Amino acid sequence: MKSNPKEREIGERLAGAHRVAVATHVNPDGDGLGSVAGLSLFLERLGKVVYPCIPRLNELPPQYSYLPGREKIGTCGEPGEPPEVFVALDCSNLERLESLAPIARASGILINVDHHEDNTEYGDINLVDERASSTAELVFRVFRANGWEIDPAVATCLYTGLFTDTGRFQHPNTTPEAFRIAYELALAGAEVSRVAREVYQNQSLSYVHLLGLVLERARLSREVGLVYSTISQEDLRATGASLSEAEDLVDYLRTVRGGKVVALLKELEDGRVRVSLRSRDDLPVGPIARELGGGGHAMAAGYTTEKNLDGALRELISILARLAGHQVPGAEGGEEDR
Ligand code: 5GP
Ligand code: MN
Repeated sequence: MKSNPKEREIGERLAGAHRVAVATHVNPDGDGLGSVAGLSLFLERLGKVVYPCIPRLNELPPQYSYLPGREKIGTCGEPGEPPEVFVALDCSNLERLESLAPIARASGILINVDHHEDNTEYGDINLVDERASSTAELVFRVFRANGWEIDPAVATCLYTGLFTDTGRFQHPNTTPEAFRIAYELALAGAEVSRVAREVYQNQSLSYVHLLGLVLERARLSREVGLVYSTISQEDLRATGASLSEAEDLVDYLRTVRGGKVVALLKELEDGRVRVSLRSRDDLPVGPIARELGGGGHAMAAGYTTEKNLDGALRELISILARLAGHQVPGAEGGEEDR
């Protein structure tokens, strides 16, 4: 028997429970949602009462509608009756669960499965491995360590997590192990071509118009090595797009040569600004996001600030200037390319 004690302990706890909540973080992505969908599906087949859940139900990105069981994603059980086991997937700290955090704390056992380097190990059981390509990879390990069957539907869910978190097998987390698991999932019946189509080739026309605005106003500040663009609430009104379908727009900015860091600044309904950071070079963005109250990985991180779009941009530029070891100008200053 292979030694995967944590994976097996998680399997035993889940097998022994009757009511299980399976959740992921606010602004959920393909890894979080795919992992929730895959694990929930399997636990339902074991006869459990399963509550797949996310903090803000109205923010479910439409491109993941194909995930089986998506329509069951809701709240974490009955009020006043916490689940026996609460599984948090792809979630680096309890705050990222927002309204679900008290339920997670009140549950019998809290299981934390994640690959973020800044995970706070908040669970009773923590399966945290920052070398894993994705949380889906860790969920796959739990399945394998316990001899659980991966049927085609579960395989499609886990493949979604692996495929999206590796940036379609392009980011540095695209390890041989990631390819091995992709192979195993394909063998188990994952609909690999469908996942690519659903996630990346199934956008609304509004999305494409919003993409146009984001690309049009992209700027490169050579001085601090930043490629950036913005989305305002007005842009959302003008195009009819929503922020939840704009999650991957930042990746288009990544294509610009000359920047070390890529940022997409998004104005929220309440006036705050959520910033998505991506690394284009060797400069890790996780520490930058943490300094500004957020978190994430070396290659992808984010944070939310009380500042407006201009203020947020100036704040980011001044941090990058400090890292680059020189004083800099405000947003409009410095040398910029169009
Ligand atoms: P995104 O830009 O796609 O929203 O996030 C990129 C990565 O950074 C994801 O792994 C996400 O979990 C993490 N991240 C984004 N915002 C925050 C935040 O406010 N706090 C923490 N801890 N992580 C974040
Ligand atoms: Mn992830």
